[in-house]
Amino acid sequence: MPANKIIYLDNAATTKVNDEVLSSFEKAKKLYFANPSSIHIPGQEANRLLEKAREQILSTLNVNDDELIFTSGATEANNLAIKGYALRYQNRGKHIITTNIEHPSVLEAVKQLEGHFGFEVTYLPVNKDGVIEVKDLIKAIRKDTILVSIMAVNNEIGSINPIHEIAQELKKYPTIVFHSDVTQGIGKIKLPFEDMDMFSFSGHKIHGLNSSGALIKKKKIELLPLMSGGGQENNFRSGTNDIALAVSLAKALRLENDKIVENCAKITPISAFLKEYLLAHPDLYELNSCDNPYIVNFSTLTKKASVVIEALSSRGVIVSSTSACHAKEEPISYVVKALGKSDQLAHNTVRVSLSSDTTMEDIKALISNLEDIIKELK
Ligand code: PMP
Repeated sequence: MPANKIIYLDNAATTKVNDEVLSSFEKAKKLYFANPSSIHIPGQEANRLLEKAREQILSTLNVNDDELIFTSGATEANNLAIKGYALRYQNRGKHIITTNIEHPSVLEAVKQLEGHFGFEVTYLPVNKDGVIEVKDLIKAIRKDTILVSIMAVNNEIGSINPIHEIAQELKKYPTIVFHSDVTQGIGKIKLPFEDMDMFSFSGHKIHGLNSSGALIKKKKIELLPLMSGGGQENNFRSGTNDIALAVSLAKALRLENDKIVENCAKITPISAFLKEYLLAHPDLYELNSCDNPYIVNFSTLTKKASVVIEALSSRGVIVSSTSACHAKEEPISYVVKALGKSDQLAHNTVRVSLSSDTTMEDIKALISNLEDIIKELK
């Protein structure tokens, strides 16, 4: 099926690249191909562009005094933040706090620290809306806690954690560093970046390119690099930089960030329309998501979600089940389970994820196909 004929509603997995971003990427690839670590003139020109992209991103997010490390995406940024910090500062304590609904790139990183490096991890539960309770966080803090990693927005259900409140509480514990995976929130909702000690994101969720991303951190924070080598990225991530990817990330972020309010105002009634439809059919669907207009997650009650998703796909309507990172495994959502829902509901989740491109027509087409499929699959 040609990509221009599909109704693409899997934007939490990845987004279509913005034309302007792609042309900035192509231009930079063609003109600034020299190695930015080289001392010759083309190398230095490439380096200037790399540094400009870095500054632009920090200034777009209003964290000019922070330090940015370009990475291959949010998976790498999360791993660098968590393992890099924990291993660097393990002499101060070996306890980490996170949540039970983090993306696998956080959960697997802390599990590795638990399994191989003697760390202890507390996994905070979430309430029925998929949000942590700050009082649970405070209760979990120990003398040897060195790191708290709590995602801003969940990738399956879109729940939004109270990042400002969390950060304010954690300020009372100056020896604890606060990291947040902001991948599903950046460029979509307003987030208090200045409150976070470290945060991770990637380009392909904001109409940028795959394999681009960054970790931003307070300058004073040291990390044990995961990649050793030529010392690029201030020694935190060795390997030759891709200037064009850095430029594309800066551009994608600026374009989406400039339009957060406008895009939100456009998308909110569109996803509200879908939620109203789902809520009007409590015999067929159960809504799993709440306030975030970009992600609507529901469980099918009468049909297997995997069958519904396949049928939608064959009609050119693209949605997903759990996150793409798990979609090939047993499709049970640990996130929906964490809301206190049954295995049956967690096995049958459908995630509809919107982007600034999504229209009311797209959602109406989804609903009408969904209605037909549910009827047909008797
Ligand atoms: N964190 C979250 C919340 C995500 O949604 C994703 C992408 N599914 C990632 C991290 C990993 O991002 P990337 O694909 O850029 O490694």
